[in-house]
Amino acid sequence: MSVITEVKQRLDIVELVSEYVTLQKAGRNFKGLCPFHSEKHASFFVFPEQQSWHCFGACGTGGDIFSFIMKKEGVDFGQALRLLAQRGGITLGPLEASSKVEDEKKEKLFQINEAATEYYHHLLSSTKAGGAARSYLARRKVTPEVIKEFRLGFSPDAWETLKNYLLGKGYTEKELAEVGLIIEKEEGGSYDRFRNRLMFPICDIQGRVTGFGARVLDDSLPKYINSPQAPIFDKSSILYGVDKAKSTVRKKNLVIIVEGYMDVLTAHQHGWQNVVGSMGTSLTEKQVGGIKRLTSNITLALDADLAGEEATLRGRAILAYSNAEANVILLPPGKDPDEVISEDPALWEKLVGQAMPILDFAFQSVISKVDINKAKDKSLAVQKLLPSINEIKDPVQQ
Ligand SMILES: [Zn+2]
Repeated sequence: MSVITEVKQRLDIVELVSEYVTLQKAGRNFKGLCPFHSEKHASFFVFPEQQSWHCFGACGTGGDIFSFIMKKEGVDFGQALRLLAQRGGITLGPLEASSKVEDEKKEKLFQINEAATEYYHHLLSSTKAGGAARSYLARRKVTPEVIKEFRLGFSPDAWETLKNYLLGKGYTEKELAEVGLIIEKEEGGSYDRFRNRLMFPICDIQGRVTGFGARVLDDSLPKYINSPQAPIFDKSSILYGVDKAKSTVRKKNLVIIVEGYMDVLTAHQHGWQNVVGSMGTSLTEKQVGGIKRLTSNITLALDADLAGEEATLRGRAILAYSNAEANVILLPPGKDPDEVISEDPALWEKLVGQAMPILDFAFQSVISKVDINKAKDKSLAVQKLLPSINEIKDPVQQ
């Protein structure tokens, strides 16, 4: 748990604000005279459920305990954190004390990714250079609306175009290398990491661009490359499209996890806004942990080939560990969600409805490979399944 979360959990906003403002109960909430502007009628509200405050008067602003203290005491975030941590009896390590510097550094890296996203998107949408990428998307039947919503882009077939563009905006080579957009050469100098590729900005749940996925436009390999691990990018903790999917996931209380970027685009284009992408064959515990804050109903739609099956078995153990309700969509052999959704939307809807509990799927996929009548195969099946079963924490399910 981060120290910020810890402080928020320890302290109650009503209690804190009451030390500065005389609050009166107003339904579930509290109101009082705004401490930040002069007024005769109370327009300053505190919401205990959200642990937030808002002035509906002249200020028209609000926030959490941190922003309240920053404004009231006239301190910066780091100082507010120290004040509130002290109040909550939480000792700050030297790491947290320097967290403001870290936050500012990360903010800069997000800005760089944002600038790169706009640049790539402009090249794709409005330049001759983006023609091949536009044709590729047209062949895959991706609509202009989806291209815009997901801010797809094109990285030019050149070594220093993005680098020079961003240096021109005042960012340093060191920062560009840190966020993974350029690669530094051992003998000195550097060059653009992404060249002649279709660009998929990967966002965190708040919609900030943390990194990129990049696909070739022909059959060359590797087909996909990604941003490297960076202070703001950890591929194993992010689900592609989660920022666009989050409200529908909450509303439907269901998330459908697919593998690829194109699967996510096609799903959203066909009205399945609760679909996110694992960006690889295996689902990680961090990815599951993140999405579980939105819903505990998780459905996996992974390719029905061996890789998908193996990934699901590993993923299954993770899901069981996190006590989520997990189901698996069984796709027709050789088809990925992208193809099924665009070729036969009705079939996709049916498959989602028929998703199978993951434990049943695990048994079926192992048993279908062995002849259950042969004693040797039987013990093999048990050996393969036992580790999974042992990991299930819920005694009822076991
Ligand atoms: Zn006010």
